[in-house]
Amino acid sequence: MKLTFPHMGYSYVAFKALINELGYEAVVPPEPSKRTMDLGVRYSPEFACIPFKVLMGTFLETIEMGAEMAISSGGVGPCRAGYYGVMHKKILNELGYDFDILIFEPPQSNYLDFIKKLNRVKPRGMSWRVFIQLIKKNYRKLEAIDQIEYLMYRIMPYEINKGDTYRAFKKALNMLDEARTKEEIEDALWEGRKIIARIPQDRSRNPLKIGIVGEIYVVLEPAVNFYIQRTLGEMGVYTDRSIWLTSYTQKNVIVEGRIGEHDIHQMAHPYLNELIGGHGINSIGETVIYANQGYDGMIQLAPFSCLPEIMAKGIMPRVSREVGIPVLTIFIDEQTAAAGVITRLEAFLDLLKRRREQKAQEACNA
Ligand code: SF4
Repeated sequence: MKLTFPHMGYSYVAFKALINELGYEAVVPPEPSKRTMDLGVRYSPEFACIPFKVLMGTFLETIEMGAEMAISSGGVGPCRAGYYGVMHKKILNELGYDFDILIFEPPQSNYLDFIKKLNRVKPRGMSWRVFIQLIKKNYRKLEAIDQIEYLMYRIMPYEINKGDTYRAFKKALNMLDEARTKEEIEDALWEGRKIIARIPQDRSRNPLKIGIVGEIYVVLEPAVNFYIQRTLGEMGVYTDRSIWLTSYTQKNVIVEGRIGEHDIHQMAHPYLNELIGGHGINSIGETVIYANQGYDGMIQLAPFSCLPEIMAKGIMPRVSREVGIPVLTIFIDEQTAAAGVITRLEAFLDLLKRRREQKAQEACNA
């Protein structure tokens, strides 16, 4: 059986390994491109949000590559994510493709359903013990991938030769890709971290600090958000993003360490105390946290027509005023172009620089 999955940043390395080790053939989805978007837009409802369209395009591309089934995640709460998988499958079947999508909902919502789906993926003849071990090992690989990516953005604003950090990261990622055993994964992580940390750096710099929040798919998929974190890093900006695949899976969110959902909701409470679906409440709470940590600015990434992020954006001006942090919201749809995003980023960085200089001047005069 040929299995595929959604493309989300660099996580494909771990998903590919798990699927192959289970004895299936992994069909690795190509990085979302203009073609992915065109296919997705052609076969999705006009007002579907951009993650829906990109996934639709991805499934169509992987079907062309021979995929017979996709494994995807669902969602609970008041937003459309919960209907994604069912709608994708319905549309694909109506187009004549005999393609199945196995949708994993969060286990807390229905343990029995979760176990049944695991049982469907577990190869016959493989014991549960071996199956769980394989999942754990490749989850560790996923964590290692998040860790080297996290380190890359820490180092990037200090790199002396543009592109060094990204090249070192790719080397580390390849090493993780080749790691087979638990020990090899730990060794590759150790070596990879060393390779990234060793690139020539100028630590006398004092880069602008920007926090990135928003809807999970557009935050996690660089090809959809115009490689915003890498672009900023190579422009000499220190960035931190609130969502990482492994911390999200553990229901935690990394913001300079590990801050739980509970803290984020508490921070959001004066501005928003209702769950509005997606990551809407997180975008508010995390903005307050980043401001308290002395960040210079925030970027909110939002799919066009994403209701949770639209609501968060409506509240953002008050949050920005009261906690004193400028926020740039970037809505992403099929019309958004890289050049426009770069221009807005450059203007935002100018504003943050001027604001920093003004503050320094005021401190001198005081
Ligand atoms: S969070 Fe936004 S983009 Fe994601 S499924 Fe919900 S409405 Fe769509």
